[in-house]
Amino acid sequence: MSAPDVIVTAPLPPFLYDPLKADYRCHDYAQAADKAGLLRAASGAIRGLVQGGGTVTPTDLLDALPKLEIISVFGVGYDGVPVDYCRGRGIRVTNTPDVLTEDVADTAVGLVLMTGRGFAKADRFVRAGEWVKRGPELTAKLGGKKVGILGLGRIGKAIGQRLAAMGMQIAYTGRKAQQGVAWRFVPDLVALAAESDFLIVACPGGPATKNLVDAKVLAALGSKGTIVNIARGSIIDEPALVAALEQGTLGGAGLDVFADEPQVPKALLAMDNVVLLPHVGSATRETRKAMGDLCKANLDAWFAGRPLLTLIPELA
Ligand code: NAP
Repeated sequence: MSAPDVIVTAPLPPFLYDPLKADYRCHDYAQAADKAGLLRAASGAIRGLVQGGGTVTPTDLLDALPKLEIISVFGVGYDGVPVDYCRGRGIRVTNTPDVLTEDVADTAVGLVLMTGRGFAKADRFVRAGEWVKRGPELTAKLGGKKVGILGLGRIGKAIGQRLAAMGMQIAYTGRKAQQGVAWRFVPDLVALAAESDFLIVACPGGPATKNLVDAKVLAALGSKGTIVNIARGSIIDEPALVAALEQGTLGGAGLDVFADEPQVPKALLAMDNVVLLPHVGSATRETRKAMGDLCKANLDAWFAGRPLLTLIPELA
């Protein structure tokens, strides 16, 4: 049997793209100068689609792929996939959960340390030659501080374990209390924000959580509170976040994700109480390789008639 045709809608790293090209007839939609021409030539043959976690796949692209059977997402978040549409057409959607959990949780801890202990600011202080003129400012002890986690899933739990080991007090919210979890469930997000020193966003993006962290939640977190986001930029009302930081009604922010990546609101760049990362939650060589292997393994399983390794819960 000839190699199945696969359309690639995101730039892929060589450790994923090279093995894909070896086993599939790949159509590089992400890099194609003439996307319409690519579709005219190949759309009728395409059976698989590979995209990134942050890639948005419009339904009109899927409409143009009548033989599409599977979307394999290189990432755990699939908020860019039109899930209801895929259900309607029987298109399978797979992702890469678990293999990235530890790295993303480490990133959240890094943002808590960099904001709470002021390490990013302290690094700038040394580099600017300020240390020879005066001593560094004192920061706040993290042990004993209260952490609220929005979305206690795989990554949220790994964040909780790490911060609990640092002596921080953990509570969480989500759509329901988690079974077998000792940490306190707070059903209301505003109430959780009001009691937290750090509010950590770890739930999925997409329409259900768009702007869930709004001006009211940020006001409840308050001028002594810090927001940390390692999930998706869409979950926080970004203009409200900028306004709260400008007005001093929010203490600080540690952000790995943004509403319009790679664009970052200009106002944030000048703020000393804000730490900005370029969406590096899972960006280690080991984890990205494991994600690539799982992304391809799902395609391989599907086209070999074997059970998928992962399938998003909405389609399971
Ligand atoms: P997960 O295991 O599915 O956990 C998500 C949690 O969010 C669940 O516990 C769920 O709990 C909660 N949740 C779902 N919908 C919610 C809603 N509408 N309101 C409030 N809580 C909700 O997913 P994960 O593997 O931990 O990944 C979480 C997210 O992290 C991904 O979706 C992705 O966007 C993001 N991520 C970011 C990076 C990065 O590089 N920064 C890397 C990987 C992942 P309930 O069902 O009880 O509500």
